[in-house]
Amino acid sequence: MSKDYRVLLYYKYVHIENPEEYTIKHLAFCKEVGLKGRILVAEEGINGTIAGTFEQTQQYIDAMHADPYFSDLVFKIDEEERPPFKKMFVRLRPELVSLNLLDDIDPNEVTGNYLEPKEFREAILDKNTIVIDARNDYEYDLGHFRGAIRPEIRTFRELPQWIRDNKETFMDKRVVTYCTGGIRCEKFSGWLVKEGFKDVGQLHGGIATYGKDPEVQGDLWDGQMYVFDERISVPVNQKEHVIVGLDWFDGTPCERYLNCANPACNRQILASESNEHKYLRGCSHECRITPANLYVKRNNLSQEDVAERLAVIGEKLPASV
Ligand SMILES: [Zn+2]
Repeated sequence: MSKDYRVLLYYKYVHIENPEEYTIKHLAFCKEVGLKGRILVAEEGINGTIAGTFEQTQQYIDAMHADPYFSDLVFKIDEEERPPFKKMFVRLRPELVSLNLLDDIDPNEVTGNYLEPKEFREAILDKNTIVIDARNDYEYDLGHFRGAIRPEIRTFRELPQWIRDNKETFMDKRVVTYCTGGIRCEKFSGWLVKEGFKDVGQLHGGIATYGKDPEVQGDLWDGQMYVFDERISVPVNQKEHVIVGLDWFDGTPCERYLNCANPACNRQILASESNEHKYLRGCSHECRITPANLYVKRNNLSQEDVAERLAVIGEKLPASV
């Protein structure tokens, strides 16, 4: 089956003189071309995932490459049957990637050694190399490189503190890191170098590039790759598919992502369709019984219905409700 749409993933750290003005002009251009997606602009550069027809995406690539600032911009391209975005956003941000640092890192000045997919695969197999996943916890849980370390953090910005707390474990080892498209690692690996780590590597082009490399074919990747659009997950390993995701409720293998129905929580969890219904899409008892629960609202469940569902899992509504 032919796929009519393309999804472009790209970033570049480059000083943008007037990011406010660039943001406005860039949004107008994307809308004019008819693209959909999400682009972040900051003084330190650009980061985007956008989708459109072959012609629309090609027009974007050509326009960017005609700009001397982005003439070397690398695009990772996925072909899809439908665009995974409904709208077009170009947003101005203070920084593209935040590590919560007082002294921010400029990857053009300091960053880890770039490892091509084949070199990165060798690093995974090397017993003396530590592989650190530089993403959020829910991304790791859906899929990761075999044996990679999952930092005990909720979000990427907590990573520097976690490294400092565990420094003795890594200091004398070779440390390599990876993320989705490479943008987070540029900064994180730069920070590791600045922090005094001697031998720091990063997967050039990220998991997205690794999965498409004709030689390694995504080897040693388990699960799926989390992506920040309506697709949620995409395959990486072309040789085998090992499911590593576990259902939040019963721990069985699962790759189906959803958000907790309590808007105040919104935690990303993996859950089967049957458990979604069984647990009212709430990640905890509190999230299940809150009057704000979106699952209960959307399904027009009465208090009796809710009580009935809860009884099945041994829970009750609070007496006051
Ligand atoms: Zn929740």
